[in-house]
Amino acid sequence: MDIKYTSKINKIRTFALSLVFIGIIIMYAGLYFKASFTVMTIFMLIGFLATLSSAAVYIWIGMLSTKAVQVECPNCNKVTKVLGRVDACMSCKQPLTLDPNLDGVEFDEKYNHKNKSKEKS
Ligand SMILES: [Zn+2]
Repeated sequence: MDIKYTSKINKIRTFALSLVFIGIIIMYAGLYFKASFTVMTIFMLIGFLATLSSAAVYIWIGMLSTKAVQVECPNCNKVTKVLGRVDACMSCKQPLTLDPNLDGVEFDEKYNHKNKSKEKS
């Protein structure tokens, strides 16, 4: 089976990290607009907000982690955290489920959404 799933916590962490970089890049880009104080300020502000929101995302991960269920991965025997009904192991990306009904069913992120209409993830 082709394993391409990432643990949700790891995914959010990657997102938070990229936000920091995006924020720094935006602030850096603002330096090119030194001629216009307004433009530079806007860039700095957006960059600052991006960096700030990454901090918020990190806090959010912290709260999610406390809610996540700790399980021992049957594949690599490491302790990992499962968020929602299905998630992937943080170490080996083995799909894991907490719902016995989904045991053996092919891993699908959409099991986490109750109304799986046209939600983009
Ligand atoms: Zn594992």
